[in-house]
Amino acid sequence: MGRQPFKNLKKMLEDIQQKILNIFSETNFWKEFFQTPPTLSSIKILEQKIYLIFQIENAFVSNQHQIKFEEKIQRVIDYNFELLIGYEVFKKAPVLEKKQLQSKRDIVGVEKIYLVASGKGGVGKSTTSLQLALGLQQKGLKVGLLDADIYGPSLSTLTGTFEKPDVTTDKKIIPIQKNGLALMSLSFLVSADKATIWRGPMAQSALLQLLFEVEWAYHGDLDVLIIDTPPGTGDIHLSLIQQLVIDGVILVTTPQRLAVIDAVKAQDMFLKLNIPILGYIENMAYVVCSKCDHHQEIFCNDRKNVVVLKIPKLASIPHIPKLMKDCDEGKMFLYSQYLEAINTIF
Ligand code: ADP
Repeated sequence: MGRQPFKNLKKMLEDIQQKILNIFSETNFWKEFFQTPPTLSSIKILEQKIYLIFQIENAFVSNQHQIKFEEKIQRVIDYNFELLIGYEVFKKAPVLEKKQLQSKRDIVGVEKIYLVASGKGGVGKSTTSLQLALGLQQKGLKVGLLDADIYGPSLSTLTGTFEKPDVTTDKKIIPIQKNGLALMSLSFLVSADKATIWRGPMAQSALLQLLFEVEWAYHGDLDVLIIDTPPGTGDIHLSLIQQLVIDGVILVTTPQRLAVIDAVKAQDMFLKLNIPILGYIENMAYVVCSKCDHHQEIFCNDRKNVVVLKIPKLASIPHIPKLMKDCDEGKMFLYSQYLEAINTIF
């Protein structure tokens, strides 16, 4: 089949799935690279890009093997779309998972948990977490937001919350209820200056307290808990992954090469640990001219040089001066630009 523009995405998805199934079932092609056939664990089509994630048993023995594998897929999936291929290596994961599952705990009254992560700080991860929480709430869900950025908690400022939380008779912390969201952050409990010097066991125990010693369902069961994680890939992420069943991760990055390079590291960590990544949000990507509506990129114009994430882009959000002001003033206002991302995911 030639390079046909497919209007019907569902048909296209089925066609791609079938073609990949054919590659793995009708030929011995995969045996060159793996002991067991890979499985296609995720396929998404967004903005003229096809994203495929394969579950493979072992990492490729060399880059050449990987290139050869991808060239074959590329030849068969012959559409006029960019093809991005990612991998989840599951050899190590079941061992880890088994250990993890034994220690994984539920947060009482919380249905689903999503992490918001970034490679670098300052890319708008906390802002995005709040926007996601507000957007999901607008969709009719009961939502909680946990600021797990132990080293730099910012939820007090973002939501204009400066009161200390109450405790229940059995000494559980009651989340602050604001604009219908259940909020919790270390910044509600200690001053931000104190939190920044916490490391190692202290940070870990603070995290456990925020997860399990908070009565998250105090104001009613939560459909979703959004967890804003610290930048990078550190102990807090590993603890969260070990402690909780994570339903999905949303990465946030700005378009600069340096930010994307770090976002790729975060992506690779979650993929390796078999944590589903829903996609990424490109934040502060451009400014819109108030006079002529022209979109001016802020950080770079040469997209060819941009390092590529192998996960779907959920939205490209402009720099919104009023949003920045709202964040500084603790106004919890939902911006439609973030709803685009939310509608893609949920
Ligand atoms: P991070 O959590 O990644 O460190 P923050 O969410 O604290 O980043 O955002 C850093 C700064 O950028 C804040 O001043 C915030 O108001 C601002 N900001 C984030 N996203 C946007 C946006 N789309 N438009 C304008 N300002 C933004």
